[in-house]
Amino acid sequence: MMGRNMQLRGGSAKNLVKAERKLSVVTVSADCPVCKAQYDLEGTVLLEQRGIRRSRIIGVCANNPMMHQFSFDKDLMAGERLNVFS
Ligand SMILES: [Zn+2]
Repeated sequence: MMGRNMQLRGGSAKNLVKAERKLSVVTVSADCPVCKAQYDLEGTVLLEQRGIRRSRIIGVCANNPMMHQFSFDKDLMAGERLNVFS
């Protein structure tokens, strides 16, 4: 069993090989309400994945990534400001 090549066997492996896969890439950006109001900056919030085990996607403002963080609901394509000290 320690060979260099691995072969998939069994019904479930065959189903995996035949499964149709789709890859979608979407770029999401948004205005940070704070930086938009203060400096008229637009599109400064980008999505980031945070955490290794319980990862989640949040919006982080490039102008102030420590303080301006937002939740992200992929179904609503919206979020709210997160309290970074909680
Ligand atoms: Zn900001």
